[in-house]
Amino acid sequence: MSCPRSGGCVFHQAVEPSVVKRVRYASVFSYCRGGGHEECALYRTMAVGGDIRYNLMPDGTVGDYRDERSLGHGRRFLIIEDSPVFAALASSTINSNFNGAQVVRAASFETALAELAGDWAAIVCGFGIGGGKTAHDVRRHTEAPMVILTGRPDHIELPRGATRVNKGDGPEALAKALRACLS
Ligand code: SF4
Repeated sequence: MSCPRSGGCVFHQAVEPSVVKRVRYASVFSYCRGGGHEECALYRTMAVGGDIRYNLMPDGTVGDYRDERSLGHGRRFLIIEDSPVFAALASSTINSNFNGAQVVRAASFETALAELAGDWAAIVCGFGIGGGKTAHDVRRHTEAPMVILTGRPDHIELPRGATRVNKGDGPEALAKALRACLS
């Protein structure tokens, strides 16, 4: 009996299409195809609506079957940025580095406020976001990982737990900071 969750399973979708990966991970396919799915760590996690740990294997160990682009699969990112240019940069960086990611953009704190209670993999936020608001106002409404995209001098005080990326450092610096939030 095959696993009924294979269609939405990150392990199955990463390994099944690749001959090399199918050979490498052959020993755990008994979960997917041999009727052992109810004992599978991914199956059990999905059954309770949990978040699949990066590269979690059916037997509960960790493999390396997912590449970094798959980190964004099913994840949601909120961009709070009053500059259309940098909002577009952040959006295109997420879409080109994280397959399957969903991006929501807010051009002001007021617009973002309605979204902040959501489940965000990461929030990309300018330090100043217009209307006298800053990233600190955002932090008061969310515990999500934050990446502060800023052109301000080094001495600005970041919100608790946030990572700073200089606007001049380009898309790869932003992608690197977001990968750290997701892994
Ligand atoms: S048994 Fe586990 S790894 Fe295999 S398809 Fe089902 S959930 Fe995915």
